[in-house]
Amino acid sequence: MIIAERKDLKQITEMLEGRKRVLVAGCRSCVSICHAGGEKEVAIMAEALRLKAEREGREMEVSEVAVERQCEKEWVRGIERQVAAGDIVLSMACVEKCGGCGDCVLHLTGGVCPIARCAKSLLNGPCGGSQDGRCEVDRETPCGWEQIYQSLGRLGRLDLLEVNIPPRSWLPSRSGGPRRTVRPSVAKGAEERAAEVRR
Ligand code: SF4
Ligand code: SF4
Repeated sequence: MIIAERKDLKQITEMLEGRKRVLVAGCRSCVSICHAGGEKEVAIMAEALRLKAEREGREMEVSEVAVERQCEKEWVRGIERQVAAGDIVLSMACVEKCGGCGDCVLHLTGGVCPIARCAKSLLNGPCGGSQDGRCEVDRETPCGWEQIYQSLGRLGRLDLLEVNIPPRSWLPSRSGGPRRTVRPSVAKGAEERAAEVRR
C-alpha cells in the first residue's frame, strides 16, 4: 500500500495558476485509506479551490471525480471525457509510472515523471548522453527528458524548463535506502552475539 500526504493549498494553487477548468481526481484505494485523496478529500479540495478563487475574484470552474484505482488504466478510461474537458487535472492519488519519490514535480515536467522515466532520475534536464530521443543507458528506451521536453512543448509551457528543481530530501521516498532482508533467526543470533560481546 502507498502512503500519501497532501501538499499544502498554497503550493497547489501555485501549480494551477492560469488554469480555469480544473478536474480534481481522487482514488478510492490507498490514498482513500490514508485520508489524502479519497472522495471526501476530493470534495474538500474542490470546495477550497472554489472558495479561494471566489475570494480572489478569479474565474475557476472546479469539477470532481474519484475512480476505483488511478494506477490502472482500465479505471481511468472511464473518466476520459472529464479529463479532456478540463484545462488541468489535479490528481490526489499516485499514478502508474510513478517512482514514489514522495515529493511530486509532475506540474513542472509536463506530467512525465523524471524519477521513473529518466534512467538517472535527473531533475533539471537531460544528461549528455541523450541521442535521437533515446536514452544512453538503453537505446531501446526513450529518453525521459526528451519526453518531458515534447510534453511541455505540446502544453505551451517550455518556460518551465527554466525552473530550478532544488536538491530534494529522499526521506519521504518509498525506498528507505538499500534493500535489507531480515531473517528472524539470523537477527536473533546477531543479538545474542552482541550480548556476549557486551558481557
Ligand atoms: S515526481 Fe515522479 S516519482 Fe515523484 S511523486 Fe511525482 S510521479 Fe511519483
Ligand atoms: S539519456 Fe535521457 S533518460 Fe537517459 S539518463 Fe540521460 S537524461 Fe536520463
